[in-house]
Amino acid sequence: MGTGEVPHPGLDVLHARILACRACHEAGYLERANPISRGGRIGDRVMIVGQAPGPVTDRKGYHFAGPAGKGIETLLGRAGFPPGFFRQRCYLTSLTRCFPGKAPGGHGDRRPSPPELRLCRPFLDEELALLDPPLVLLIGQMAIAAFLGKHRLEEVVGNVFERDARFYVPLPHFSGVSRWLNDPAHRALVDRAIERLSGLGDRLRLT
Ligand code: SF4
Repeated sequence: MGTGEVPHPGLDVLHARILACRACHEAGYLERANPISRGGRIGDRVMIVGQAPGPVTDRKGYHFAGPAGKGIETLLGRAGFPPGFFRQRCYLTSLTRCFPGKAPGGHGDRRPSPPELRLCRPFLDEELALLDPPLVLLIGQMAIAAFLGKHRLEEVVGNVFERDARFYVPLPHFSGVSRWLNDPAHRALVDRAIERLSGLGDRLRLT
């Protein structure tokens, strides 16, 4: 539990259920389940949704512990959010909660399969219902697809989507494995996303 975090019975019970979950292991999708659960507190108004824990998160036991976390923290800083906002005031979570292992070819991490996504999705839906955040950042193509449908990154990054009185900001994955950010045109889209995020920070009085 982070500094100043207030216990909330509903969230505490949910986190305990996530930590105890072995559904993907029992179904044969994972050799070992190691769920990452607590990613923030009730009252956090920004939720950040990634694909799945990577190896660093798996080892350290908290969300976005690896390079992606550093990338998002930098991006929030460029959008005018104060230092510490990422770890202290965002609710961090992911589509699935256990490290899926390395991809078969050894390049990057394995993407969680559709059955794993289905098994884990209820946890995310419960978090959304408990927190009801006005702003959700979607990190990477899988998180974007889970909320906005399947799109190429260049079709959505730089835009803001409003659904059911909630804003969604699609962003690329900052893992270092993806080459998407090597293209200057793509980096320009991220610059635009930062501008949009800055505007939302003001509009929602987050910064
Ligand atoms: S990925 Fe989700 S559903 Fe699968 S074992 Fe881990 S916590 Fe359970």
